[in-house]
Amino acid sequence: METIQAKHLLTPVRVAMDNFFYADWNMNIYRGCSHGCIYCDSRSACYGIDRFDTVRPKADALSLLDAELRGKRSTGVVTMGAMSDPYNPLEERLHLTRGALQLMLRHSFGAAFTTKSALCARDADLLAAITRRAPVCARLTITCAEDDLCRVIEPNVSVTSERFAALKALSDAGVYAGVWLNPVLPCLTDTEENIRHIVRRTAENGGRFVVCFFGMTLRTGNREYYFSALQRDFPGVREHYLREYGNAYEIPARNADALYAAFTDECRRHGLHWRFGDINREMLRRRPDQLSFL
Ligand code: SF4
Repeated sequence: METIQAKHLLTPVRVAMDNFFYADWNMNIYRGCSHGCIYCDSRSACYGIDRFDTVRPKADALSLLDAELRGKRSTGVVTMGAMSDPYNPLEERLHLTRGALQLMLRHSFGAAFTTKSALCARDADLLAAITRRAPVCARLTITCAEDDLCRVIEPNVSVTSERFAALKALSDAGVYAGVWLNPVLPCLTDTEENIRHIVRRTAENGGRFVVCFFGMTLRTGNREYYFSALQRDFPGVREHYLREYGNAYEIPARNADALYAAFTDECRRHGLHWRFGDINREMLRRRPDQLSFL
């Protein structure tokens, strides 16, 4: 199997508590992703990932991570899933993400990740064990309520109903978990019905938060891929984008303000957090007193 050489795995994260999910280090244990999401930003040319759809593990990843965690002067939270999905199909047999979680448990580090794969439920036991020592935040990306639409826009990974089942399995195990409702795709998923449905099912399946930005981004590399998928699967939609947004980077949902109002209304109704500050504080509130994460 082809592997990627890496000198280190952990990259420091410096983001204010109110601006994004809290983490101290970011880690990609795999390079590339085969899930095939038509809107994937990681395909953008600026990241320079060759053959993005071919997943390659980092060579000696677990030994590298073990050494890096041992070498840190204090513990903290390691997050995964920014540029590749930690639960891609290779993970089923390689168990690198699971191995990384075992190391985090051994060294008393917290863990966070974002995924579209129901495979994350396999690690519910491990995530629950980490939760007893350090902060954990599990995020299932869920962008559309309907499995049929999900199969078209995110073709090679668990459909929405399977992701909600994974969310329930993690929540039932005592893992702090919620939904990353991004991106919102104009003309495809930017309806009040879709947003309310996802928020409601998040609560029904034990999620504690939902995060939504009400739009998407497009730039060289992912724009071309997305537009060709639109042309193939959604006749007329590409023309709408060209007319309304041209070559813009930020593409807002058609009715973002109304969607935001519906979203916050539904979150309040179900007692879910939607602001990063609240989400992060609840995650860190669970940390044991003897550890210092801030
Ligand atoms: S799961 Fe994430 S990284 Fe993988 S193709 Fe989809 S958006 Fe890209």
